[in-house]
Amino acid sequence: MRTEEARPVRLKDYRPPDWLVDTVELDVSLEPTATRVRATLALRPNGGGGAPAPLVLDGDELSLRALKLDGAALAADEFVATADRLTIAQPPQRPFRLEIETVVDPSANTQLSGLYRSGAIYCTQCEAEGFRRITYFPDRPDVMAVYTTRIEAEKADAPVLLANGNLVAAGDVAGTSRHFAVWHDPFPKPSYLFALVGGKLACVEDRFRTKSGRDVTLRIYVEPGKEARCLHAMDSLKRAMRWDETAFGCEYDLDIFMIVAVSDFNMGAMENKGLNIFNDKYVLASAETATDTDFERIEAVIAHEYFHNWTGNRITCRDWFQLCLKEGLTVFRDQEFSADMRSRAVERIGDVRGLRAMQFVEDAGPLAHPVRPEVYHEINNFYTATVYEKGAEVVRMIKVLLGPEKFRAGMDLYFERHDGEAATVEQFVRCFADVSGMTLDQFMRWYSQAGTPEVVATGSYDAPSKSYRLDLTQSVPATPGQPTKEPMVVPLTLGLIGRDGRDLPLKLGDGRTLERGVLTLTKPTETFVFGGIDAPPVPSLNRGFSAPIKLTVDLPADDLRFLAAHDADPFNRWQALQTLATRLLVDNTAALRAGGAAREDAGLLDTLGAVLADGALEPAFVALALTLPGEADIAREIGRDVDPDAIFAARAALRAAVGMKLAVPLFEHYRRLSESGPYRPDAAGTGRRALRNTCLDLLVATGRPEAVALADGQYRGADNMTDRMAALATCPSAAGRWRISTRAMPTIR
Ligand SMILES: [Zn+2]
Repeated sequence: MRTEEARPVRLKDYRPPDWLVDTVELDVSLEPTATRVRATLALRPNGGGGAPAPLVLDGDELSLRALKLDGAALAADEFVATADRLTIAQPPQRPFRLEIETVVDPSANTQLSGLYRSGAIYCTQCEAEGFRRITYFPDRPDVMAVYTTRIEAEKADAPVLLANGNLVAAGDVAGTSRHFAVWHDPFPKPSYLFALVGGKLACVEDRFRTKSGRDVTLRIYVEPGKEARCLHAMDSLKRAMRWDETAFGCEYDLDIFMIVAVSDFNMGAMENKGLNIFNDKYVLASAETATDTDFERIEAVIAHEYFHNWTGNRITCRDWFQLCLKEGLTVFRDQEFSADMRSRAVERIGDVRGLRAMQFVEDAGPLAHPVRPEVYHEINNFYTATVYEKGAEVVRMIKVLLGPEKFRAGMDLYFERHDGEAATVEQFVRCFADVSGMTLDQFMRWYSQAGTPEVVATGSYDAPSKSYRLDLTQSVPATPGQPTKEPMVVPLTLGLIGRDGRDLPLKLGDGRTLERGVLTLTKPTETFVFGGIDAPPVPSLNRGFSAPIKLTVDLPADDLRFLAAHDADPFNRWQALQTLATRLLVDNTAALRAGGAAREDAGLLDTLGAVLADGALEPAFVALALTLPGEADIAREIGRDVDPDAIFAARAALRAAVGMKLAVPLFEHYRRLSESGPYRPDAAGTGRRALRNTCLDLLVATGRPEAVALADGQYRGADNMTDRMAALATCPSAAGRWRISTRAMPTIR
């Protein structure tokens, strides 16, 4: 526990460290309740020329046993050691070696920060400020050092001893029942990336040859007996390593890459250099115990942590305000990886649904904060959807603004310019400005202004001049501490679709063609006029969700149905269907609540039927298109005075209506998509199951006995968790119908 009241930390108060650490030699002797840690730090003053600086090292619940400076013990009046700080008021103003001995109790560490035990396994978690619970240290990310770690333990208790880097020595401790291992990590890193593991662990091993021909050993460590459930994680890791070489030119740099899966872990997973530590739910999977969604999640998390090797580890954050620099960028990278491994459209729709459900809500509430906060009391409270998911959207917008080639050039420059450094958001964005010649000053507001921008679009066609005029206005709502906002840079990817369903050329009034279809809104209000348009087009705005905004564009139902059927952008095809269904469900919720009847929308049902019949669409996409907005989506749209019963009833009624209307093709698809061969969690199998189970859900919603029999048969016959769960999940539909029909009955007290 820290005894004093934590004071707010402010970005504007950042100062470079007074002291740097070149190397850290750790000697850790593991014991369940009294682990001895000897740390030898090679320190040197940073900069010099200024006033002599005291040395102040961070600690947390530490007890000091010994302290030496250049081999000589310090006198009691030369330092002050408390549980949370070690101060040497007048250290020599030159490089010196400081030896610190502390003792920690991993068994009593229930915070799971620092060195602790997960069952009988010793492991560490140092992000954000856990290293100071192991030894006294300048525990801030801009102090990067080369670590050598010697670990010693009872052979019987901890036959496996792991730390960051490459193994350089191992053996028995003569005359004892103990053994040791020495690991050396040649890449300078901040203390939050330090890791150590000791215990009885089994491992699965594989190899990977990097693009320059280096052989890397890959190991996943798990509790003995769980090895067979690591195969998907290993396969995901190898694909992530190859993808990062191709997509970003990032090659792995050590001789070995290790993942350890433990059952007690605060976060999902942690990217410690060369030694990722995972909550085992993001590693272990088998067809019997994991769904397709679990398999996808494992693939994404394994990739995310691996990608940190370059975005986070090789280039780290100068301070914790820059957290989005590693997290937003790495989320963007893992989203792109999943898009390439699976369906790009489905990945994007899933990411946006998550963003709206989590981040938009955060941005609209009392906890709204910028992607890069300017003040914190406790950094652990800032691992938020805004830093991660909106942070990823900001990187994506840079790509939209620059185009893929210049974006890649900017990333290459970032890796080249800042490798081995602790960087800032400004330095990151500067790389893209430098390769493109674009000024990104106004764009920086995405990092400093909280709140979801709202854009209103109004289109009008002028027949005599054959032109289409688009009026756009933008605003950002007030958020806590930010009552007024400046206009943002909003990159809106746009299409104007002709009556034949094809995109029209986007020629602006000055004769210029809009590059990649990207309109950039920078002022509060702007008007764009497109010429050479022979008939009124249907606009498709914010394609691919190019900007993370709330867009209001009042399109009539006919235009939405047209977009759902013809838009070349699959995201907006899905969005059009969602908008149509949401409008209907909001109306029907109000009607049911008022004792009226639900309205039918034949046009929507026909459009859904056309999507189902379109053989050119990916099954996973069709499944998403046929899935109606969820109860929470509808509630969010209604906003206030929400009646969950009425929403549930409206949604159940619409699902039943879709199931009735499309019964024949739904049954056909269900049969056609039946599994042949063993379960495979790959993109094709996952997509097939998703569509098949969506068909089943809509059919069971009708309550037809033959549909219920299908679900029953699938539940009993399924050879995998996905199909079994999906069949089971249809049961509440039947219950829901029963509930609707009994709604008018008097309440029994
Ligand atoms: Zn991360």
